[in-house]
Amino acid sequence: MLDREAGSLLRELARGVLTLAYRDKTASIVPYSVAMQSVYDKIVASCLLSGGPAPTSVPELLRWTREYPVGELPFNVDTLGVLSSDVLVDGASGMPTRTCIEVASAGFEGGWEREALRTLQKLELSESNYARCADFMANRPVVTVQQTLNFAATARTAVTWRHIMHLYRSPADLLVQSGRLHVCPECRLPARSDDDVRIAWCESGECPGLGEVGDAHDAQDALVLVEPLRAFHVAPTRIAHALRALGQEAGLTMVAHGASGTYAIQFSEGSRSVRIFDRVQPALLAEELKLLFEAEPSALVVVPSRTMARHLRYRRALQSAVPAGSSAAVMTDEEFAALLVGGTGGGEGEEAVRHA
Ligand SMILES: [Zn+2]
Repeated sequence: MLDREAGSLLRELARGVLTLAYRDKTASIVPYSVAMQSVYDKIVASCLLSGGPAPTSVPELLRWTREYPVGELPFNVDTLGVLSSDVLVDGASGMPTRTCIEVASAGFEGGWEREALRTLQKLELSESNYARCADFMANRPVVTVQQTLNFAATARTAVTWRHIMHLYRSPADLLVQSGRLHVCPECRLPARSDDDVRIAWCESGECPGLGEVGDAHDAQDALVLVEPLRAFHVAPTRIAHALRALGQEAGLTMVAHGASGTYAIQFSEGSRSVRIFDRVQPALLAEELKLLFEAEPSALVVVPSRTMARHLRYRRALQSAVPAGSSAAVMTDEEFAALLVGGTGGGEGEEAVRHA
């Protein structure tokens, strides 16, 4: 795990960026939060000590997060192994990136990732209710007020909706354009469009290309799942849902361990625990996996094929977290699907995957 000080400046900066970007629409930007002012002061001090140029104001510091990739930020900072060409704020849209969210969640404080876990655990649901609520939120990160009335009035969805309705809020200001909220037709997360024709940015940060706009709602009529759950619950839960269905076809049951994000799957050789992560920064995930494998030495970790295919470094970084000689493994969802179809969780197939 990252120690308390490692990369603290970058983490504080990422948290400051997120807090400012997603602030309540009634909150004024100035005075800046104590946290933002504090990280600005630290960065100025670092610049003065190193003799480099210092940002003259918080807005200039924010502009740097947009103009400079993490590896080229003009001040001394531990980059935590973040891919050096990635930015904290998207240059074109000015929106915080997935990288920013993951950096802000790194380390012992946990940021939105820990908040997502705490939020799900606080629901205190039975296994079957949790599965229903988890899938519901993953499939509907954006809803309209009219839909919520239908959820409440329909027997099939009324109980689920009652458990989770408090986790939907009005969209943050930065998501609203001319009073409207766009939804990415691919991932169904909030999106932005500059011309009402094509998507210019979507919150997953992973949707290929800039497709045509899908749904757009009157922002006053839209409710969005809270940010931590959009960032850390939606994508992995969708992957889990698809894998669970595939397992069922193969006669294998994959059951969620409460709201922990861990699933148990019964292979012919015995039960294995499975964790699914959808992250863009391999070094940050590798740190998390080291802790996970310490606690669960035979865990199977699944990541989306598209992120594993992003570059060689991704697979190498994650494999480095697997303890030598352990039965733990990291694989893509496609590779895990092949295991499910093969019905084995500890055979040669997995071994081949682990050392791929
Ligand atoms: Zn999308």
